[in-house]
Amino acid sequence: MTKSHPEISSTVGPSETLDPANWDDVRAQAHRMLDEAIDAIANIRAQPVWRPIPDDVRARFRDELPREPSELGDIYREYSEFIAPYATGNVHPGFMGWVHGGGNVVGMLAEMLAGGLNANLGGRDHMPIEVERQITEWTRTMFGFPESASGVFVTGTSMANLMAVWVARTAALGASVRQHGVGGEGALLTAYTSKAAHGCVSKAMDLAGFGTDALRNMPVDRSHRVDVEAMRIQIKRDRDVGLKPFLVVGSAGTVDIGAIDDLAALSALCRKEKLWFHVDGAYGALGVLSAALAPRLAGLENADSVALDFHKWGQVPYDAGFLLVRDQKRHLDAFAAPAVYLRRETRGLAAGSPWPCDLGPDLSRGFRALKTWFTLKAFGTEKLGAMIERTCALARYLEAKVSSEQQLELIAPAQLNIVCFRYRSTDADRINGEIVADIQEAGIAAPSTTTLDGKLAIRAAIVNHRTDTRDLDALLAAVLEFGLKRSAEDHAA
Ligand SMILES: *Cc1c(COP(=O)(O)O)cnc(C)c1O
Repeated sequence: MTKSHPEISSTVGPSETLDPANWDDVRAQAHRMLDEAIDAIANIRAQPVWRPIPDDVRARFRDELPREPSELGDIYREYSEFIAPYATGNVHPGFMGWVHGGGNVVGMLAEMLAGGLNANLGGRDHMPIEVERQITEWTRTMFGFPESASGVFVTGTSMANLMAVWVARTAALGASVRQHGVGGEGALLTAYTSKAAHGCVSKAMDLAGFGTDALRNMPVDRSHRVDVEAMRIQIKRDRDVGLKPFLVVGSAGTVDIGAIDDLAALSALCRKEKLWFHVDGAYGALGVLSAALAPRLAGLENADSVALDFHKWGQVPYDAGFLLVRDQKRHLDAFAAPAVYLRRETRGLAAGSPWPCDLGPDLSRGFRALKTWFTLKAFGTEKLGAMIERTCALARYLEAKVSSEQQLELIAPAQLNIVCFRYRSTDADRINGEIVADIQEAGIAAPSTTTLDGKLAIRAAIVNHRTDTRDLDALLAAVLEFGLKRSAEDHAA
């Protein structure tokens, strides 16, 4: 038989690890990198919020697979010149688009340490997992959940919402669903949320195999809170035709305008109807850290599960999503799966069960808990709560300025930290879309857009702890300037 592939030789060559030949060189380079990373954040105001990527820069990253090694200093230079300047811009105080956290230096340092430790938090008995358990315990306390609760870090709320659907599914159908799938009785399950819920809730229903048709998107009131009575009626109607309602997803801070559903009413409805009550608290749930905002989240403490992102209002560097489940048994029912190579022991490195891999779909997992632990300890929840409250006060400031400006129209009042408004003009949808792109390209600020009651609005979500009245003034001045310019162009045309 002819062998067509080269064989691995049994003579072991000289040691060629991936460690540096000269540790001092790497240390000097590392110090330079760290200094510059800190400088970049310290001097962020001097930079544009965002820069469009030049074609030649983009083209550089259509390069061939590197076969030969490169010097670290050269690679870092490429990073500094071609990657760092063209990042999203959410570290900048002028970033107000979508819902992005600003990160923080302490969290950045923790990321560096976590990289060095290279811990795998899928399982086994080591201290990094205790740090994740500590965060679970702190999060449980924040939300007033019982001691039976369990939690796990995930990428973000999109994943946490999907996992909540899986947990609710297993709670509704029993553990056998994991073997038989969601056919049969599973095909009858229906879930309920609001029209203003984040798109990932619908996607979660799709990915979990129920299909988006099984999700009822209930109407909302003027302030975008779900109509609980309409939901109650829909649940009854579905039951009457033989369907099996199993899940309600409430929103603690909708993504478009920051509306908080009546969580107490939803939790009462779920208790009465025996439905799983999940709260999408992606960014709003951490409002519990502010004494002024916490009462508006009343009812959250009764949820069966909560999804949240420490990387939004919590300012932990990306990514740091989290799922908290009221009853650990339910959580384990949905995900724990025995495997011979993951056997648990009562001593040695294989002790410490249950492991995080029993609480979600991932086995290998990084140390997201460390940057969250550093951030919570460095600032404390009081300061974080005050920062969160301040972003809401800034939204009020922006709202007042918009209201006092003839040329601007307030589209949605600031319920939390999001203001939606627009420049008054003919063809306003198109003009406002242009204004937003103009402002982004000029590097002045980075608002985004949304559509409310059929009107395209400029949306400023103030999430970043660095944002100040100066940034809001600059945004407004730019809206007025580009608005005038774009409207004049229209008239001239
Ligand atoms: C951001 C957000 C999500 C999605 O969270 P990711 O962390 O981006 O996956 C879901 N729901 C709401 C309300 C959000 O604001």
